[in-house]
Amino acid sequence: MTQTATVLRSDIVIIGGGAGGLELAARLGRKLGREAVLLIDRAAVHIWKPTLHEVAAGTMDAHAEGLSYPILARRNRFSFALGEMVGLDAAARLVTLAAIRDGDGVEQVPQRRVAFDTLVLALGSGSNFFGTPGAEHAHVLEQASDAEAFHRTLLAAFMRAAFSADKQMRMAIVGGGATGVELSAELLEAHDEVLQSIAPNQHFRLDIALVEAAPRILAGLPERISRQADAALRRRGVRVLTDTKVTEIHPAGLRTSAGELPADLVVWAAGIKAAPGNRDFGLEVNRSNQFVVNAKLQTSAPAVYAMGDCAACAWREGTLVPARAQAAHQQAEYLARSLVAQQAGKDYAPEFRYRDFGSLVSLGENRGVGNLMGALSGRNFFVDGLIAKWMYMSLHLMHHRAILGAGATAVLALARLLQRRVSGRVKLH
Ligand SMILES: Cc1cc2nc3c(=O)[nH]c(=O)nc-3n(C[C@H](O)[C@H](O)[C@H](O)COP(=O)(O)OP(=O)(O)OC[C@H]3O[C@@H](n4cnc5c(N)ncnc54)[C@H](O)[C@@H]3O)c2cc1C
Repeated sequence: MTQTATVLRSDIVIIGGGAGGLELAARLGRKLGREAVLLIDRAAVHIWKPTLHEVAAGTMDAHAEGLSYPILARRNRFSFALGEMVGLDAAARLVTLAAIRDGDGVEQVPQRRVAFDTLVLALGSGSNFFGTPGAEHAHVLEQASDAEAFHRTLLAAFMRAAFSADKQMRMAIVGGGATGVELSAELLEAHDEVLQSIAPNQHFRLDIALVEAAPRILAGLPERISRQADAALRRRGVRVLTDTKVTEIHPAGLRTSAGELPADLVVWAAGIKAAPGNRDFGLEVNRSNQFVVNAKLQTSAPAVYAMGDCAACAWREGTLVPARAQAAHQQAEYLARSLVAQQAGKDYAPEFRYRDFGSLVSLGENRGVGNLMGALSGRNFFVDGLIAKWMYMSLHLMHHRAILGAGATAVLALARLLQRRVSGRVKLH
């Protein structure tokens, strides 16, 4: 058996450069430098996950919007390595990265080991099918490649429908949470624009069914927001099917508690679960494969921290910190302070406390809806319309500001605005 060499070493190793891990690497790199901070991701390009429904609909081009990790590493003074974590020996403080293979499966880089003093796991999450049979017939939006694959299938289906005899396309989106609602709205916009671009004189009906097992969509948000989103989607022709449980996915659609639902395309956005492989790292995990962490975000191995969607961190009344970008962002801020103190040999006493600032949901058509928690009063404010949409878009800019700085974020935002004016909003290739 060949011995895997230890080829990389860093004081702090972060695995996963998503919403949380990348922000943490940028903050730490700027304070501690590239000798001390190493970020590892299985992809070479960063896409902010909350924009994946836009990549799926084609209203965002992942190739234009993606940010290269090596460039981000240079700007923020951290090191970056491409690789997928497949093993952990917490006692020996070693991570194993899988061999890198080309498209034909030929090994290009052998399996490697990475030594660390402190490890942060920021691996994100995938889909939860809750044991529903037929998962292979549904699209998911777990990473940029899923969203791009869905977009290619969507364009082909649009073309077929535009030139078909019955002039219709049926789509079922399972899960009436923020992802399902936003995807429905984004697809309606893409439908109009794609038709104008590829088949200006053709028409077809895009029949979107949004299927939700709970009595209302956006069940985790205040009722007023659910009602507004529900009304906005129905007004635009989406069939919102609440109290409807999907029992099977098959090539021609869905079997549900309310009967058969034929669909040409099915998207599963009904729940999340961390990767099953998380169970193999010798750390305590919960039923959703999340690493159980204490109030300092330490896992059952004290030198190993976990943050974001892959971490189970206690919140209020027996609940967990929700799997949201704003939680990953707050944990990145917390860990940046605590790990900088640790590197300076100091003890960092404060514990992580999640603060819910509310939620914003995009409804397309320059419209959003959401609630914001008053910072001082703790009261809930509702926002709607263009203001909510602008606030929603500003979250993406805030993420960019954390990893690029204010100046570069402004230049990038302007460049993208101009590009959309010139080449249109929907990506057609
Ligand atoms: C369509 C959609 C819309 C959303 N909208 C919102 C929203 O409006 N607001 C909100 O707050 N949240 C939203 N979310 C949720 C939000 O995206 C996540 O909560 C957030 O991205 C979690 O951040 P993270 O850093 O934990 O993981 P991620 O951002 O998922 O990053 C995980 C990273 O780890 C890497 N990785 C995974 N496994 C490995 C491995 N073994 N080795 C190496 N690298 C690995 C991945 O490549 C990825 O870069 C949305 C999610 C989706 C899918």
